[in-house]
Amino acid sequence: MAEEGERADEGIVEASCLFVNPVGQRRADFQSACAGVFSQLRVASGADQARGLLARESADLLVLDLERCEPGIDLAALGALVAERQGAPILVLCPFTNARWLPALMAFGPIDYAIGPLRAQQTRALLDARLRAGFAPPRAPNPVEDELQMLLALRGATQQALEDADDSVRFGERLCAALAGWPGLVHAALFQHRDGDLHLEAEQGVTGLHLMALLKDEGRLLQSPLRHAFPGLLAAASGEFTLLDAPEKAGEPGLAASLERYGAQMVVGLPIPAQGPGGPRGSLCLMFDHARAFSRAQLQAFEELAQLAAHGLRMAEVTRENEALLARVTHLATTDALTEVANRRHGEHLLEQEIKRARRYRLPLALVAFDIDRFAQVNDNFGHPVGDLVLRTVAATARALLRSSDVLVRSGGEEFQVIAPHTSAIDGLKLAEKLRAAIEQVEIPGCDHVTISLGVAQLGEGESGDSLAVRVNAALARAKRAGRNCVELAMS
Ligand code: GH3
Ligand code: MG
Ligand code: MG
Repeated sequence: MAEEGERADEGIVEASCLFVNPVGQRRADFQSACAGVFSQLRVASGADQARGLLARESADLLVLDLERCEPGIDLAALGALVAERQGAPILVLCPFTNARWLPALMAFGPIDYAIGPLRAQQTRALLDARLRAGFAPPRAPNPVEDELQMLLALRGATQQALEDADDSVRFGERLCAALAGWPGLVHAALFQHRDGDLHLEAEQGVTGLHLMALLKDEGRLLQSPLRHAFPGLLAAASGEFTLLDAPEKAGEPGLAASLERYGAQMVVGLPIPAQGPGGPRGSLCLMFDHARAFSRAQLQAFEELAQLAAHGLRMAEVTRENEALLARVTHLATTDALTEVANRRHGEHLLEQEIKRARRYRLPLALVAFDIDRFAQVNDNFGHPVGDLVLRTVAATARALLRSSDVLVRSGGEEFQVIAPHTSAIDGLKLAEKLRAAIEQVEIPGCDHVTISLGVAQLGEGESGDSLAVRVNAALARAKRAGRNCVELAMS
């Protein structure tokens, strides 16, 4: 023990350090916490000053402290400093909410990092440990081979999830299931912004762990009391890569206790980028059973994963949009805009279908045609808008009387048809009489009562739709000649 202490002391006496942070208070705190740790401790407020100091005299350790740095931090300037070190020891202290700064700096050269917030004693203990290890890089700069294999397998599995990307929940489930194969991963979850809130689309992992319960969500997830602490929510709200390597660092003891209960020692929040400008589309939240330091390749794998999730969610969104568009186009193409009943073209198509069905099952099929009596006068006397209202009212009144299997069609200006499957001529006559009686009763604001004349025909054996229509219209014409407001049965 004594020997170890001596060795540590020896190392400490020899090492010099340069600490960089723009905030005076941070520099003062570091100086007081780490006084005596180094033989020489200098401080700088930024990359330029640090470069000047290093030019005058080198330092054994460069500490880049990113705590309390602005989001617009000049990473390129700090990166140049990293590059100039040419592999000499650098320790980056990075707040857990801005972990994306780490891969950005790693691109310039090897760095060692610690995730903050760290209390003064923790920082000191960390430095003591690093010094004792002689600044030996605590991990290999490149991932070992099997780790790469694992990353490749993970990518393959997540790409497969894209096959199910026509639905965001199904895609999320596939993706989380694929991620669950990652060694050490205890839970994976996918969050997405839609309809003005954040939604937990899927989660997979430790049984009993339900994020919604954990996040104390009472309605809106974005209003969760843990939105500033839980990496999945933070990443989805801020768009920042969040790396919490010890649950208690989030500053929420209750959350930390829950996470530890489920064996989650480290939580990663990966923002899922949006297509265009604006905030992120959502986030992926990964929980691991132990804290680990990530290599640059692993951090890049995280980024790829988030990109993949973005593609999947975008594909699901496009599918949803296409389906909605198709439904809208179909509605427009088949529906009469004024009365919202089937238009003539769609009616003809439906009649053909019902004729085939009636033949196949040897069932009767009736066609009823009706026309509003003296409708030209309604327009003349009360105006076109009232005429339109009459058309809508007549259609709504008729539709309310029909069975769900009957189809109401606006076959012309003030002419309608009812395709009535499973209906004989007798039943068709009853239906027509019911329609006639209902229409003459109905109150239409701004207008007198209106009446309709009707023709009824039953589909004959081997008869075409055109022939049926000709016969029913002839019956309707007879009803007009007979004085209107009455029903006529078609000749067979
Ligand atoms: P009949 O009893 O013989 O059927 O007489 P009618 O006046 O109803 O028949 P006619 O065919 O002479 O007139 C039909 C009227 O329906 C003429 C046309 O302006 C009107 N019409 C057709 N479509 C619309 C519409 O969408 N809105 C309005 N307000 N009127 C329409
Ligand atoms: Mg008419
Ligand atoms: Mg007419």
